Amino acid sequence: MLELEYKPKYAFEEATKTEKKKIFDFSEKYKEFLNYATTERRCVKRGIELAEEKGFKPLEKFKTLKPGDKVYSVNRDKNLVLAVIGKNSVASGVNMIGAHIDSPRLDLKPMPLYDDSKIAYFKTHYYGGIKKYQWTTIPLALYGKIVKKDGEVDVEIDGEDFALVISDLLPHLASEQMKKTMSAGIEGEQLNLIVGSRTDDADDNIKENILKILNEKYGISEEDFISSELEAVPAIKARDVGFDRSIVGGYGQDDRVCAFTAMEAIFDCDKIPEVTAMCIWADKEEIGSMGNTGMQSKYTENLIAEMIALQEKSYNDLLLRRCITNSYCISADVAAAFDPSFPSPYEKSNSAYIGRGVVMEKYVGARGKSGSNDASAELMGKIRKMLDDGKVVWQFGELGKVDGGGGGTVSQYVANLNCNVIDSGVALLSMHSPFELASKGDIYMAYKGYREFYNKFGK
Ligand code: MN
Ligand code: MN
Repeated sequence: MLELEYKPKYAFEEATKTEKKKIFDFSEKYKEFLNYATTERRCVKRGIELAEEKGFKPLEKFKTLKPGDKVYSVNRDKNLVLAVIGKNSVASGVNMIGAHIDSPRLDLKPMPLYDDSKIAYFKTHYYGGIKKYQWTTIPLALYGKIVKKDGEVDVEIDGEDFALVISDLLPHLASEQMKKTMSAGIEGEQLNLIVGSRTDDADDNIKENILKILNEKYGISEEDFISSELEAVPAIKARDVGFDRSIVGGYGQDDRVCAFTAMEAIFDCDKIPEVTAMCIWADKEEIGSMGNTGMQSKYTENLIAEMIALQEKSYNDLLLRRCITNSYCISADVAAAFDPSFPSPYEKSNSAYIGRGVVMEKYVGARGKSGSNDASAELMGKIRKMLDDGKVVWQFGELGKVDGGGGGTVSQYVANLNCNVIDSGVALLSMHSPFELASKGDIYMAYKGYREFYNKFGK
């Protein structure tokens, strides 16, 4: 009988026996990546190492580009682009997947250290959209770099040896606090990291003692904090969740899950794809994609221009404009998974669900699709066919009920260049929390779908 009604598919259910093993093996590699890639800089560092292992070389080393060349480019240690040059010229268009590698966190203020009542603290300024109460009373790690006048030092406090932490009021004395709304219960200026409390003699100043320790360890004085980027992140290792181990729990899966799957997809795409494949890791998505490392910067355009210039005898700007017009981009970012414990903000028949495969979103945005790239029916149609032909388990979804809230991704910025763009990613539970959840089946299907896009799209 003709099947007319839409029936959702489930990644674990549809996967073949060999694929089931691949789903679990893939998530092991992914957890390893998550545990290292705690900041955008560390993502880039690990990404370069992995890409070099796969034979990718810096673009600067190429005098010309030929089909099959594997290229990478780094922008200010915070963006990484990988490309595999296709049979067709770069100028004829590229297949891009863009994901972001910045995640919500707590940045240290320029002058962070103070003491109060014999406790030493670092002041923080949160980065991205967080529920502040989630960041108290959990062990935090601290990563980043300090630029001194005479050199740089990396800070890598993984929170295993010792952790930093934000305190919260005991329930016994919290009657006033508990009356507040959740957004006011913990305020931004209360997100202060406890970094010490020890004095060995009564005259000792607690702050001075911490400065002494920091000076011994990093050779810094207090002023050096002004030229530093230090990010406090949950010191919670990624791990399996559930008796059936079907879920990965971990910090920073928005959007390192898409960054990782897009990278693995370009590693495993055809030796020489028809269309040049590009994997773009952007920064600053969580604060509006601004700045020279955000997706609104000219970096990606400049890079494509460089690649065209290396291939064509004479370069002009029109080649770049035409290339982008004929290009396709998956804006790879996480989606909100329906949460049965909190059903009210979702519209059940148009939500993404964990376990139903990679999500394809026609649009995101808020309040009447505002701020959204609204992918065309034609593009949705092409993508749908490609995924089904490639036996990729996929679903659709939008971000909550109409007028229920919303959000954006990098898709709008790429689409504004007159590129063909669609949103796609892995559905998460507890997005933007210190411990986000993703289905292993969905993670694998994102990888499989992205690989399909690099290999088949535009053929
Ligand atoms: Mn995101
Ligand atoms: Mn986000």
